[in-house]
Amino acid sequence: MSSIEGKVAVVTGAASGIGKEIAHELSRAGAAVVIADLNLEGARAVADAIVGEGRRAMAVAMDVTDEAAVEAGIARAVETLGPIDILVSNAGIQIVNPIEAYRFDDWRKMLAIHLDGAFLTTRAVLPHMYAEGADGKARGGTVVYMGSVHSHQASKLKSAYVTAKHGLLGLSRTLAKEGGERGVRSHVVCPGFVRTPLVDKQIPEQSRELGISEEEVIRNVMLGQTVDGIFTTVEDVAQTVRFLCEFPSAALTGQSIIVSHGWHMQ
Ligand code: NAD
Repeated sequence: MSSIEGKVAVVTGAASGIGKEIAHELSRAGAAVVIADLNLEGARAVADAIVGEGRRAMAVAMDVTDEAAVEAGIARAVETLGPIDILVSNAGIQIVNPIEAYRFDDWRKMLAIHLDGAFLTTRAVLPHMYAEGADGKARGGTVVYMGSVHSHQASKLKSAYVTAKHGLLGLSRTLAKEGGERGVRSHVVCPGFVRTPLVDKQIPEQSRELGISEEEVIRNVMLGQTVDGIFTTVEDVAQTVRFLCEFPSAALTGQSIIVSHGWHMQ
């Protein structure tokens, strides 16, 4: 039996791509899953699929940059499924442009989704993780932030993304220290390129901006530094998140785990 059987997990951006697979993986491990996304229709489809397999899930409409929406969404999740044990802060977008052409609006949007979203959702779930159980001990929990290889290195055209993904390391390490004595562990999972809508959109964009073919974007820009020229998969990332959630102690906390076919090694 998985150690997260019966726990309650919130996954943001879980209507699509990596978040969707994480929701399914945590559900297969026995957690009740809250599918929180801007895209309510997509979130409902994921929740319905999980419920259709006989497990517990619910969809919550949530813009992670909106303080009131995050507070209300978490409150509704707690009311329905119980106090939150796991947060996977995963919602994200990509906007590519060279710095000199990067619109301030886009910069603010990127930082709001990736950093404000991570902060607001963390703050909303912590009271549940810090609350004391009948034994007088804090309930504890696990927070996983979706970073990227771009939490550790830079690429052209991605100033806001690289800045935000580096920033998550700071939030996660601070939470690991503040939460340690109350049983809260915190990590950043850092995937290489994964074929999701977020990446599919970038291939023609980067081809245009860099003046190379789409095949060259894939072969040289996206996979050129991997050990085997292979994309990371949503399953690779979801299994890593599950492992971190199931890990039994704070021997493993405050870490950044890179899942990238060797693109980045540390
Ligand atoms: P995706 O586009 O498939 O899914 C992103 C989801 O986030 C969508 O369902 C979208 O509706 C939701 N979302 C966007 N803005 C939101 C908001 N303000 N509030 C709530 N939900 C919002 O993308 P993905 O590739 O699965 O990316 C998920 C995460 O993984 C992102 O943080 C991304 O930066 C990170 N990541 C992706 C890759 C990759 O190669 N795909 C690599 C490293 C890291």
